[in-house]
Amino acid sequence: MTQYIDIGVNLTGSSFKKDLPEVIERAQQSGVEKLIVTGTDSYHSEQAITLSEQYQSVCYATVGLHPHHASDLSQDLVSEMREMLWHRNVVAVGECGLDFNRNFSTRQEQIRAFEAQLEIAIELQKPVFLHQRDAHDDFISIIKSCRSDLGQLVAHCFTGSIEEVNDFVTLDMYIGVTGWICDERRGMSLQQAVKHIPMDRIMIESDAPYLLPRDLQEKPVAKNRNEPCYLPHIASAVARHMGIEEKQLITAAYNNSCEFFNLG
Ligand SMILES: [Zn+2]
Repeated sequence: MTQYIDIGVNLTGSSFKKDLPEVIERAQQSGVEKLIVTGTDSYHSEQAITLSEQYQSVCYATVGLHPHHASDLSQDLVSEMREMLWHRNVVAVGECGLDFNRNFSTRQEQIRAFEAQLEIAIELQKPVFLHQRDAHDDFISIIKSCRSDLGQLVAHCFTGSIEEVNDFVTLDMYIGVTGWICDERRGMSLQQAVKHIPMDRIMIESDAPYLLPRDLQEKPVAKNRNEPCYLPHIASAVARHMGIEEKQLITAAYNNSCEFFNLG
């Protein structure tokens, strides 16, 4: 059976509270073998680790502070994150980065939290799961300033342009693509940009419960809620827009994800 790895899924949110075992079961039924559960703050990172223990070899966790929550940063939180990152099921630092779209935390706070997490990643030599929205230039310049000390990096939920792809590739980064590509209107720039992502840099993700693919034929189990079981649908759209065989894309994304997150 074709196998997939969903590199970004927010399984610890309230929308999965009621039927999480079924959600994971459906993912597995559709070939989504492994799920990287995103940590967005202290509580959700802890929850992601708990899930990774409950679903050994299926769920893995990331530990980080999303830019929306950057104002939570404290010395205690940094120590706490550092401790959580030692857990054997924690495969990356993040998500972390910059989001100047909504500025739930100030830009200053976001930059401080981002730099603090890159420092931890350097210290522990862990891969980094990155988030960027409307902050490309600052994001790139922060990464550039310490790129040679950092290990592997992935720009998750990429929605940008060909130029942005080129910047990431120059910095030897991986790129995660979501069901954003299935949106015939706002996904247009991404549909062009994916053609420029090298095969050894592409990964795929649902970013569930967000970003339900707009062109999904079947009705989602819960209204408007995305699930990792729709990842094959996303993969086929990505392959179509890259102009390659679906099988080729799926194999590349799978191998890249295994290597990036060091999954056995
Ligand atoms: Zn994100």
